[in-house]
Amino acid sequence: MASWRLRASNANPSQTRRFNPRDPSPKWRGDSPAARFRGDNGTSPLNYDHIFDQAIQRLHAEGRYRVFIDILRNKGAYPDARCFAGHNGPKPITVWCSNDYLAMGQHPKVIAAMEEALNDVGAGSGGTRNIGGNTHYHIELEKELADLHGKEAALLFTSGYVSNDATLSTLAKLLPGCVIFSDEMNHASMIAGIRNSGCEKRIFRHNDVAHLEELLAAEDPNVPKLIAFESVYSMDADIAPIHDFCDLAEKYNALTYIDEVHAVGMYGARGGGITERDGAAHRIDVIEGTLGKAFGVMGGYIASDTRIIDCIRSYAPGFIFTTSLSPVLVAGVLAAVRHLKESSVEREAQQAAAAELKRQFREAGLPVMESATHIVPLMVGDPVRAKKISDILLAEYGAYVQPINFPTVPRGTERLRFTPGPAHTPEMMRELTSALVEIWDRLDLQLQKAA
Ligand code: PLP
Repeated sequence: MASWRLRASNANPSQTRRFNPRDPSPKWRGDSPAARFRGDNGTSPLNYDHIFDQAIQRLHAEGRYRVFIDILRNKGAYPDARCFAGHNGPKPITVWCSNDYLAMGQHPKVIAAMEEALNDVGAGSGGTRNIGGNTHYHIELEKELADLHGKEAALLFTSGYVSNDATLSTLAKLLPGCVIFSDEMNHASMIAGIRNSGCEKRIFRHNDVAHLEELLAAEDPNVPKLIAFESVYSMDADIAPIHDFCDLAEKYNALTYIDEVHAVGMYGARGGGITERDGAAHRIDVIEGTLGKAFGVMGGYIASDTRIIDCIRSYAPGFIFTTSLSPVLVAGVLAAVRHLKESSVEREAQQAAAAELKRQFREAGLPVMESATHIVPLMVGDPVRAKKISDILLAEYGAYVQPINFPTVPRGTERLRFTPGPAHTPEMMRELTSALVEIWDRLDLQLQKAA
């Protein structure tokens, strides 16, 4: 095989045999066309198979190769689910790491709305918003979201990721010479948007008001400026000083952009996020959110004034050139948003569950991170151990929590991130806590002295 590859790489391409998947000759078997035609025996920069293998090998070596767990949630019974990991059919598990924080993806009103929409208008939207895909559901949901945030208008995207990328890149391109001030812990989708805008950026230390001011003050007062940050940082579970950032925005004449992905539906009397809870929504120029976490379905959006929304609608490729969300999904989100505007029962139950889990972890001496939010992170500090704990929990205790590693969090801060929902009971938490204590002991990890 090796000698054949050398011949292939030295051969005149026009004389090289074409790859034929039906050719039974042994020299074709077990190798991809890329390696056959462009590689040699392993070291050539054109041996594409080798390059890809090395890339995956690096992840294994660092202990951060990602394994996706194969599950199905049980309709209406969340956090119960089935896991298809073994060979003996699905095994019942409890999910502890879902971002469907309020279990709205299982709510009877949401499911009924989706069934009704499916029966009424069929499965897909049939086009982009401009060409056939602007359904009445989309228009209704945008009105509902604008109202949620007290803004003039809103715009839907196919995900929160796309909404950040499309909006930030387009906004900054429309503002000549714009400089973006970005929190160092901002999500990958915001970083992608900032990078894709091609504009200048300044990174300020996480939630550091003084550092942001230093950077703003150093800038030409006449260049357009945009401050981009999140409200709830979902990995460290802390909250931005929103009013302080808005004060700076006013002082230095900058626009403000906030990602409320982990807060919409979760905070504020109507689920308008931290900006609603803290009375700051009117001070923010663009509020961005997801429809896939507390609202339980899928999609993303921004809410702003009509002028900005009209610009993004008209200029952002990530909005224009893609099929709009299925009306079935949009109908489900509409039901979730409307329900959570009226009901705080789910929010309160979720907050109580998070507080109880933090209390139990702390009492057991588990290294629960300081958290001002609904998220309960447990620090491990090592990718291999984090994965090991997660594997044991799943295999032996039927508890599913995904290990979080680099690049989602910095190296050396790998952790387990628990998101208890309204239906996780104190009894389930006791079982989880004692399982974790047993695993901590088994892996020779240190428990902290109970406070
Ligand atoms: N922004 C933040 C802070 C996130 O954590 C995420 C996803 O986890 C997103 C945006 C992307 O949202 P979506 O999952 O709807 O694409």
